[in-house]
Amino acid sequence: MTQHYDIIIIGTGAGGGTLARALAGSSARILLVERGDFVPQEAENWDPEAVWKHLRYQTQELWLDRNGEAFRPYTHYNVGGNTKFWGAVLYRLRREDFQAVEHMEGLSPGWPVDYDTLEPYYDRAEHLYAVRGQHGIDPTEPARGPFPNENVPHSEGMEEIVGRLRGMGLHPAPLPLGIQRPGETDGCVLCNTCNSFACRVHAKSEADVVGVRPAMRDGNGRVQLWTNACARRLLTDASGRRIVAAEIERAGRVVRVEAPIVIVAAGAINSAALLLRSASDKHPNGLANSSGLVGKRYMAHLATMMQGFHPLKRNSTVFQKTVAVNDYYLRGPKTKYPLGSIQSQGRTHGVMAQTVVPWIPVRAYDWWVARGVDWLVMSEDLPSESNRVTVAPDGRIQLHYMPNNLRAHRLLVKETKRILRRLGFPFIVKHSHGARNTTHQCGTLVFGTDPATSVLDPFCRAHDIENLFVVDASFFPSSAAVNPGLTIIAQALRVADHIKSVELRIGQGASAATLDRAGRDSRRMEITT
Ligand SMILES: Cc1cc2nc3c(=O)[nH]c(=O)nc-3n(C[C@H](O)[C@H](O)[C@H](O)COP(=O)(O)OP(=O)(O)OC[C@H]3O[C@@H](n4cnc5c(N)ncnc54)[C@H](O)[C@@H]3O)c2cc1C
Ligand code: SF4
Repeated sequence: MTQHYDIIIIGTGAGGGTLARALAGSSARILLVERGDFVPQEAENWDPEAVWKHLRYQTQELWLDRNGEAFRPYTHYNVGGNTKFWGAVLYRLRREDFQAVEHMEGLSPGWPVDYDTLEPYYDRAEHLYAVRGQHGIDPTEPARGPFPNENVPHSEGMEEIVGRLRGMGLHPAPLPLGIQRPGETDGCVLCNTCNSFACRVHAKSEADVVGVRPAMRDGNGRVQLWTNACARRLLTDASGRRIVAAEIERAGRVVRVEAPIVIVAAGAINSAALLLRSASDKHPNGLANSSGLVGKRYMAHLATMMQGFHPLKRNSTVFQKTVAVNDYYLRGPKTKYPLGSIQSQGRTHGVMAQTVVPWIPVRAYDWWVARGVDWLVMSEDLPSESNRVTVAPDGRIQLHYMPNNLRAHRLLVKETKRILRRLGFPFIVKHSHGARNTTHQCGTLVFGTDPATSVLDPFCRAHDIENLFVVDASFFPSSAAVNPGLTIIAQALRVADHIKSVELRIGQGASAATLDRAGRDSRRMEITT
């Protein structure tokens, strides 16, 4: 069975969901292919036991780590992808992140686009995802106008901490957050189950609520979503230069879908795996892999959770995720090298903490976390070809990852410890995901201008395959040290503009579209309406 569309988008997360929304207004017939289902709105959305003990929403798929040991990755297959569970901390990269920067353990490479190129798309991304923040406080922030919405106010307890941080000469700034209508009847209730939980009231700005559902509404019947449908392979024509079809596994059958434009947005690990699994005579090392870089340069951030704990002080804050300290982002206090970002985190729950040392009773953890203030300390990891995604002979994904740039991260952890002590916490605990970290996965299909050193061009089109785009976290040349989501969204909006203005020229009022390959190729495609 073969089906025909104008555009196929594989994956509905930050990249795919945003792109779908941005393209929905065109008259192209779009198929969204999502391997998971909608996350139901249910009591378990906000139940720490369901989420952290029973792992209700996490994929059950097993991957292999670099030693060949199986593990269940912390990733989610559902409409909206990982954005459904994100903390909605939506940062712009810093201007310097687009340039080559010397780090303690190597070079963070420059991007083929600069901040000014992405700035208008950051503006649009912040409006689309209703970001709240306050400009002009964070010393690393690029020049910008006001945020579309006022920042979320600090709780009394966090306000006190912010005052003391200022007293230390630091510049604590409100975290930019994509949460909707806080305090209004149908809006965000500022709960303590946001980061890592789905929002039961759909007040979190994520790709299901902001991207997919409006795309289907605005698409006027032209945008279709297949859930529980997994892209298995992409097939090329005899020249190997064009994708002719995607093979989609759906309800136990393999469906062949053809479209003149194919957009892969399956997340940095799955997108690379899909290209590797689509190897053929013309592409023996994986699709679009003439550079040899498909799957390589995997990055995921160095992230340590830290908690300042005081046995005699209860923490009464409910919504804690409101402040960041970026004073050491570009340069550390005792080094000329960048260290990273310190952000307050959502409240830890007893069952969450119990996943680290399971034999301690949850009641003990509940007592402990009620007296802790939680932070995320995040540094840049550097692209290395030995950190990579491969597909094992049995078809499973294998993640070969060894975190690097660790010295800088350790310095930042040490500095944060010092800050927490000065804030009055006698005990500090920390935890990190280490070599199985997939939360901020990126970099596996790097974009650039040179086909010898990059997989995608600056509009995220594969150098080797003229009708293949990859629009998710794969394109990052460097990981920077702020959360990646807003940059994925901004680039998705930029690619959508490019596709609408260059790739897809819909004939005015006609039932045919012209796919104009910007002077390289021109053909007509029939639109079946
Ligand atoms: C708990 C958590 C908290 C986070 N918090 C933040 C935060 O506060 N701020 C931030 O910026 N980032 C955050 N992140 C990271 C952020 O969620 C990701 O960077 C972002 O979602 C990546 O977007 P993406 O489009 O690359 O992939 P995803 O959002 O992961 O979407 C990929 C989609 O593709 C689908 N898919 C995969 N393979 C296939 C296939 N073969 N066929 C069909 N469909 C497929 C998946 O099911 C998924 O829906 C967080 C992540 C997690 C897990
Ligand atoms: S109500 Fe607000 S704080 Fe709670 S999950 Fe939804 S967006 Fe997050």
